[in-house]
Amino acid sequence: MSVRAAIMEGPGQPVRVVEMADPVIEPGAVALRTLAAEVCGTDVHLLHGRLSGVPYPIIPGHVSVGAVEETGGAVTDVDGQTVRPGDVVTFLDVHETCHACWHCLVAKLSTRCPKRKVYGITYSARDGLLGGWSQRIYLKPGVCIVRLPREVTPDLWIAAGCGLPTALHAVDLAALRIGDRVLVQGAGPVGLSACALAQASGAGWVGVVEGSPIRRQAALRMGADQCFDPAQDLLAEVASATRGRGPDVVIEASGNPAAVRQGCEMARDGGRYVIVGQYTDNGDVEINPHAHINRKHLTIQGCWGSDLSHIYRGAEALARLGDRFPWVSMISRRYSLDQVNEALSDVEHRRVVKAVIVP
Ligand SMILES: [Zn+2]
Ligand SMILES: [Zn+2]
Repeated sequence: MSVRAAIMEGPGQPVRVVEMADPVIEPGAVALRTLAAEVCGTDVHLLHGRLSGVPYPIIPGHVSVGAVEETGGAVTDVDGQTVRPGDVVTFLDVHETCHACWHCLVAKLSTRCPKRKVYGITYSARDGLLGGWSQRIYLKPGVCIVRLPREVTPDLWIAAGCGLPTALHAVDLAALRIGDRVLVQGAGPVGLSACALAQASGAGWVGVVEGSPIRRQAALRMGADQCFDPAQDLLAEVASATRGRGPDVVIEASGNPAAVRQGCEMARDGGRYVIVGQYTDNGDVEINPHAHINRKHLTIQGCWGSDLSHIYRGAEALARLGDRFPWVSMISRRYSLDQVNEALSDVEHRRVVKAVIVP
């Protein structure tokens, strides 16, 4: 039997669908039938060659959900439960984190472990079905498997996608206190999940800065109390919404370097600023260290990637909050494998909030 998979051969080249051999299941491995995979901003960066160390050709798709088809002997999920054919699961896309290096053990920054590999990004298609844009996904032995809670449908999981664990990580690092006024810059998938999580964490107010009217509407549904168009008099409007003091917490999820200077300006004295949107290098920006950081006692926190705790707690959060915030409505369109180039283009040009691949 063969498997259809979408291959990105290299930067700038159209993705094409090929037939690949069915994997031989090693002991401890799992084969999934892909139910849905995501197209996220990272996949557009991959197409443009903006990430280093990518072993093209690759099968993109780092966040996916699938049904277990076959296991190599007894395999357990993160809770220690045996995984059986038919179970609907997701998995941590990051694998081979060594838990033996300075980054892993001393700095406790497993997201910076030099040994780590990522499904859909730093695994090559030459090594097998190691990405979600494929009818089957091969989970190597040791991949962290998370069974989706009963309340979390495959649609709900993929709608939240990799934006959810990323946003959860950012909200963790923001050390939100009950009643804090939170401003989110950018209402893409990360920003929208950050709105919902901040609201659910007890924020006193959640504001969103977003240029697209469609995304501002989505933000209001996902828990924002108020939206701001960056083309308006942003600083004055945010100040007036926060009693002239500025938000306690600002979460940058826009990817636009210019937003960082604005975030420093808008945060209140002694505020906290988490920068999660600058996942790739989009250039430099000028800030004034005295006015923006020193004098105002601003805490600036970077946030890159996510780990298993964010995936696991993301699934728990969705089970609880999936009815309260309409993540599923973020799915703008579903695409077959043959339509992946269209999906990439729609994400790149922001014609959709969320593009989902159903292989
Ligand atoms: Zn992603
Ligand atoms: Zn390591």
